[in-house]
Amino acid sequence: MINRLVVFGATGDLNARYLLPALAALRAAGHLDDRFQLTCVDRADWTRDDFRRWAAEQLDRHDLSSPAAARKAITEPARYVRADATDVTDVASAIEGDGPAAVYLALPPAVFPGTVAALRDAGLVAGSRIVLEKPFGEDLDSAVALNRLLSEVVPEQAVFRVDHFLAMTTVQNVLGSRLANRVLEPLWNSAHIAEVEIVWEESLALEGRAGYYDGAGALKDMVQNHLLQVLCLVAMEPPLSLGERDLRDRKIDVLRSVRPLTDDDVVRRTRRARYAAGRIGDRDVPAYAEEDGVDPRRRTETFAEVVLELDSWRWSGTTFRLRTGKALGRDRKEVAVRFRPVPHLPSGFGEEASPNVLRFGLEPESMTLALTGAGAGAHTLAPLVLTARPAAPDLPAYGRLLLDVLHGNAALSIRGDEAEESWRVLAPVMSAWSGNLVPLVEYPAGSDGPAAVRGS
Ligand code: NDP
Repeated sequence: MINRLVVFGATGDLNARYLLPALAALRAAGHLDDRFQLTCVDRADWTRDDFRRWAAEQLDRHDLSSPAAARKAITEPARYVRADATDVTDVASAIEGDGPAAVYLALPPAVFPGTVAALRDAGLVAGSRIVLEKPFGEDLDSAVALNRLLSEVVPEQAVFRVDHFLAMTTVQNVLGSRLANRVLEPLWNSAHIAEVEIVWEESLALEGRAGYYDGAGALKDMVQNHLLQVLCLVAMEPPLSLGERDLRDRKIDVLRSVRPLTDDDVVRRTRRARYAAGRIGDRDVPAYAEEDGVDPRRRTETFAEVVLELDSWRWSGTTFRLRTGKALGRDRKEVAVRFRPVPHLPSGFGEEASPNVLRFGLEPESMTLALTGAGAGAHTLAPLVLTARPAAPDLPAYGRLLLDVLHGNAALSIRGDEAEESWRVLAPVMSAWSGNLVPLVEYPAGSDGPAAVRGS
């Protein structure tokens, strides 16, 4: 296990909301001890005490579960280094220390290439690991270039392209439920499943994140990484093991089987939209184009839907609908597996049986199976819903990811070829959208989203 973590971009939102609380949780659970060294790096002109104070405040705000002693054990010994993450001399002093380090780039994606080059020139200790946040590059070419650069610094097994969705209990549960239950896997194919919806719709609007989001948009922020990764877990063939090679080989098979989209497909099978002014609950939300820091000329979408088909023996004939949106009237974050109707219902039943739907709630975590059972009257049918809650996770998703990084287990991180293949899947969409083949429509904040998509 590596006992040294260097976080670049350490005064940012990711470190405040996820990484520091995850470290406190790891400490509380006994995974980290006094040998663990945390170095926090950013360009803010802060002293070590300024950083510790800020970090303690962030933990008070975002970590409601770890005991005070665990939080203090993370923030008190932390080192703070003021550095430009793209400057070789600065980076060399930031990564100074004994033995290999895990270097976490909690930085804007545009800074990744400069920082990786600086790490290469500063000389990382052998055995060190590099962790990168999503999005990995901004298109296929930049992802290929970033992979090439990384290969000059550390071997592929030491690169952790993290996607915290993969560490969420319910996302893991998709795979567990499929593979550990006799009643599911035999039905897990296009003969029985008509459609899979992978949805992350949220009521949160921009929340001050224009600096990052306006340059990315819904497709690159959510679909290219999180939703495609969930698709991989839903559609993959059973892996031989959960080891990093077997799992990731089966995931890339799914991405490679996505039928390439033509311009005509993109017009028929994708939607893009952004929110107009509206009201969510009791708050007024300005139009996306008027949010602070947004450049309306970029025409960034806050809602994206892409319908894919897989050219494989198992899935030919099933549609996979990936959808995400911000500033919607309600949160809906789930995988919904819609089964085909029964082939025949004996005459005499009063009504049709609704097709079964298996839902994996991603947030909050839940699992439901919609069946049809007997109604109150003779020969009547009625919906019957089985609900289960997966066990509460022992660690937050980022805690699991960090633990895997420190132990060198890359099974839940994205391999370089997977990252490239994900861009390849969406390249036709990006190209057709930038050529305006699909109109950017508007939906009021607080609504159900653009009309064309509803009811699908
Ligand atoms: P923030 O903008 O909040 O933080 C980025 C930090 O990096 C800032 O403190 C910024 O400093 C610093 N920084 C930028 N350039 C340099 C540089 N050249 N040298 C040193 N420091 C620099 O972003 P987030 O924390 O939200 O995101 C970080 C990464 O995590 C992104 O890749 C994002 O996509 C990813 N991510 C974020 C999530 C979140 O919920 N926040 C969730 C999942 C992924 P300054 O303020 O001076 O610009």
